[in-house]
Amino acid sequence: MAHLGIVGAGLAGAGAAYALRDTDHDATILEKSRGVGGRAATRRRDGCRYDHGANYVKLPDERTGDLIRDLGDDGLVDIAEPVWTFGADGEIAPGDGDDEHKYTWEAGITQFAKRLLAETDAEVRKTTRAESIVRDGGGARDGTADGDTGPGGDRGGAWTVTDADGDDHGPFDALVLTPPAPQTADLLAATEWPDDGGALADLRAAVEATEFRTVRTLALHYPFELDVPWYGLVDVEKTHEIGWLSREECKRGHVPDGEGLLIVQLSPEWSTAHYDDSLEAAAAEAATLAADLVGDDRLADPDWADDQGWRYALPNEGLVGDGGPDAAAGAVAAAREAGLYLAGDWVAGRGRAAAALWNGIDAGESIAERLSGR
Ligand SMILES: Cc1cc2nc3c(=O)[nH]c(=O)nc-3n(C[C@H](O)[C@H](O)[C@H](O)COP(=O)(O)OP(=O)(O)OC[C@H]3O[C@@H](n4cnc5c(N)ncnc54)[C@H](O)[C@@H]3O)c2cc1C
Repeated sequence: MAHLGIVGAGLAGAGAAYALRDTDHDATILEKSRGVGGRAATRRRDGCRYDHGANYVKLPDERTGDLIRDLGDDGLVDIAEPVWTFGADGEIAPGDGDDEHKYTWEAGITQFAKRLLAETDAEVRKTTRAESIVRDGGGARDGTADGDTGPGGDRGGAWTVTDADGDDHGPFDALVLTPPAPQTADLLAATEWPDDGGALADLRAAVEATEFRTVRTLALHYPFELDVPWYGLVDVEKTHEIGWLSREECKRGHVPDGEGLLIVQLSPEWSTAHYDDSLEAAAAEAATLAADLVGDDRLADPDWADDQGWRYALPNEGLVGDGGPDAAAGAVAAAREAGLYLAGDWVAGRGRAAAALWNGIDAGESIAERLSGR
């Protein structure tokens, strides 16, 4: 049996563990938060549930739909109302009518990661922030004299992760890093990998060059429901202060009848400029913007508000790096040879839940294949 370490219990991390579910290998996930799901996140307050990161999962392909149904239809919600559009002038218009399925769960979108992990024997160590990594390059962690031919390459080798409390986790035969690129870059900066032949510096350079944009989400609650035909509004021109606005009451099980809960995601420009504003100030401004956009003055006065700043919300691009795609691919391949994998939406090059998930599954499958030779 071999041991896989995973940093991050978002969809990429859950996907990597899921890929090992029918193998003899075990997986340990280190997650800095108190829950799983990462940016596919749900909160509860006053009888409401709201998805304050990813709003829903679209089905980019058949396999995603099959997987979601395999995880159980109970509590699955397909949001019926459409997404409409607006631009800089705030003029709302119906979308193209080509609305695909938009899935979440009655208990919230965190169900996706929870259900994937429930299919595995993975151990999730919550409130465990990975802080540094060391590669034991000498092989022989399996007790052989000169190492093995496992994922650590012909010299064997294993990865140990130290958390913020100074506790060690591992050694792992393979390690998958799934935090957003800037946080993965921090981890790589705190990685010791002796005799790496320059691979670590190349990998770090590629990861550091992968930019993310910031989104601040405001959840605004009202003691009434809006009478409008849409679920969500998206700024197609990307010029408005609001990038996205939607109604959680369109998701079964999220908001009690007769109440309304708006999710307002502010543009990256607004979010960066107002990232440290108090909840009160940010909510007041978001509510005024929402009232103007929807054309309903009542929205300027929510009865409660909550927020989440996503400093690393969405990747601007995939993993490329200053050296270009070939250099990045070379660095990723060299790290994989040594049992160090990267996964996540930014590795896939698309800030989408399904992209993160399949990227994690691909990493897990690739590791399982390598480990099976042990
Ligand atoms: C506001 C917003 C709206 C979005 N809307 C949609 C949408 O409607 N539909 C859609 O498909 N996608 C949407 N997305 C994108 C989607 O949420 C992401 O693409 C996806 O969830 C990324 O998953 P991941 O596993 O790659 O990363 P993450 O979900 O970020 O998971 C990484 C995990 O690593 C953990 N971590 C970080 N550093 C450490 C450390 N040092 N030690 C331990 N753990 C660590 C984090 O806590 C996190 O749990 C949205 C994202 C945001 C922010």
